[in-house]
Amino acid sequence: MSTQPHIVLPWVVRRTRLPLLLRRCVDCGSESATTGEGRFRVNANGKLLDVWLLVRCVSCDRTSKLTVHERTPVRSFDPAELRGYRLNDPSLVASRLLDPLLAHRNRFALDWTGAWRLDTPSEWLDGTWPVQVAVVFADPVPVRPERLIAHGLGLSRGEVLRRIKCDIPLRRPRSTGFTFTVMAGD
Ligand SMILES: [Zn+2]
Repeated sequence: MSTQPHIVLPWVVRRTRLPLLLRRCVDCGSESATTGEGRFRVNANGKLLDVWLLVRCVSCDRTSKLTVHERTPVRSFDPAELRGYRLNDPSLVASRLLDPLLAHRNRFALDWTGAWRLDTPSEWLDGTWPVQVAVVFADPVPVRPERLIAHGLGLSRGEVLRRIKCDIPLRRPRSTGFTFTVMAGD
């Protein structure tokens, strides 16, 4: 009897909107901020540019600035990138906000609650086990594999631990692709 999975199912994790920022407001003490519609501010000082991404406290609306570039020579910018900053290009807002370096430099974490979804194929279970699932991340959303799998398969966490074979730690959040195998239930 072969126990090789007969089918590989693609699962895709993708964001549905921009995540909020976990960042303490100096005015009201709220821990949550948003980039809203997404705005940059570019300031020229001679041949040097500062670029900030504006964020707003969700509680009191106080606006603050995240440093994207600091005193950076104009000529070192890719013209398309610079145009994107001036036009508040939404894809540039997303890529800067999701850049771990920006978060590190400006000391905030991302709050992905309600900002992502899991896409799974609709027709798939024909009752033949085992089944292999390949999870890919269209966006770097940190999720606990254990919870993602329980959600995607409609299983309890206990069932996940009994029926899933996987080489990665199931409890540690990750945002890069992995595969797992679902064995037959009882
Ligand atoms: Zn505030």
